[in-house]
Amino acid sequence: MLLQHYRGGEAITTLISVGRGAEAPAPSRIPGDQEKGLRIAAARSPALSWYLDLLGNMKKALLAVIALAVGASLLLLALSSATALSLDREVRVIGAETLVGVKAENPHGIRRITATIEQEGRTFKVFEATHPARRFFFLGKSEPPQTVNFIAGTKTAQGLRDGKARLMIEAVGNDLRGHTARIDIPVEVNTQPPRVVADGFQHYINQGGAELVTFKVSGYWTEAGVRVGPYTFRSFPMPGRPENERFSLFAFPWDVDANTVPVVYARNPSGAEATAQFWFKVFPKKFRTRDLELSDAFLEKVVQQIDPSGSGDLLERFLRINRDMRRQNNQTLADLRFKTEERFLWKGPFLRYGKTESLFADTRNYIYRGKAVDRQTHLGFDLADVQQAPVRAANDGKVVWAADLGIYGNTVVIDHGYGLQSIYGHLSEIAVKPGAMVKKGEQIGRSGATGLAGGDHVHFSMQVDGVQVTPVEWWDEHWIQDRILSKLPS
Ligand SMILES: [Zn+2]
Repeated sequence: MLLQHYRGGEAITTLISVGRGAEAPAPSRIPGDQEKGLRIAAARSPALSWYLDLLGNMKKALLAVIALAVGASLLLLALSSATALSLDREVRVIGAETLVGVKAENPHGIRRITATIEQEGRTFKVFEATHPARRFFFLGKSEPPQTVNFIAGTKTAQGLRDGKARLMIEAVGNDLRGHTARIDIPVEVNTQPPRVVADGFQHYINQGGAELVTFKVSGYWTEAGVRVGPYTFRSFPMPGRPENERFSLFAFPWDVDANTVPVVYARNPSGAEATAQFWFKVFPKKFRTRDLELSDAFLEKVVQQIDPSGSGDLLERFLRINRDMRRQNNQTLADLRFKTEERFLWKGPFLRYGKTESLFADTRNYIYRGKAVDRQTHLGFDLADVQQAPVRAANDGKVVWAADLGIYGNTVVIDHGYGLQSIYGHLSEIAVKPGAMVKKGEQIGRSGATGLAGGDHVHFSMQVDGVQVTPVEWWDEHWIQDRILSKLPS
């Protein structure tokens, strides 16, 4: 088979070129005419005949070596693997310095990654990384995906202009075949930076509370809002004003250092960002710390109701609920911010229910048999009245959650528009369905002790764009007027 390849002459060229050229030794053979002449002479001389045999054997050996080399190359080719290439995040716009993240995957490693931008027939190389080539000794390798981040943009690609272009990325596998994967996508080069200017109001902010800021944004921007430490809050166009005249209802989260400076920001997909400060004063709050005794009866009740099929001892199961489930439930609540109406659904102060049993952002030390076993922050107010008392909507809004929610038990969440939402937990009964519009004071359920609750009460909380805040402010008509409404066009 392989011999035929050899005799076929052309076939071997094809194979060798597939095998990336020079590695396979080039075949050499004795020209046919000379061979024929020698055979005639051999009939006369034993020495010559021995010599011819030797030549014949050498030829066979040579053929065997070539066959082996070609066979091994074919095998290595067959064992080479494909390269997978993907972008870490979408790239639609390239600015002055746009961060591009690429993941390249080949179990035999990556020999080369290159990135270029092409515009009107001109090519700009923006990135190249190479590793020493490994063509034969790659078997048994299992290299993890390789992630590279590089900057693409007019700052390094000089001559690149605002307008349409293509971003091309290539990755070559590090084995014999050197399989190349490509990404070729259209991009927009846009170097106009966003600009943002905040209002001239005074912003008095309670740590753990909310505030509103208005601002104007211009240039090329696609996202704008407020940033407080690691938190960001969306903005919306002011009612009746153009898209670039915006406001953001934001929180100064209870767990952000009181010295943090909140800023308004605007950014675009090229990674360009502008920020602006506004006048503010933060009132730091001392949040309380409380010990909470855990009885076996309480653990039993909670574990049986919330996670009846869990494994481990009682305390272990409780701690899982108190930590992991609490985190998940809070995430579910935070994600409800995407189910908000872009209009004010509420009017006037929010209703307060029952009497206060615990305050917002109390730190709780959980004590079991005299030992502290956990510490969590209680985000909300526990409000108690008579058992199974009617629970009413604190303000007009739309129901966005009406179901069990782990530690919060039967829970209702009402959206009041622009990311402001109220939360009612531990209900014994839910009287509304998701999607329903409710009026302030309308009954939405009854108080109870479902979820992580020792006795009948309502866990009441408010959140601003997914961050829980103290509801006290929203119970106060003056605060609402001064801090929220006075900054918006009437
Ligand atoms: Zn509570």
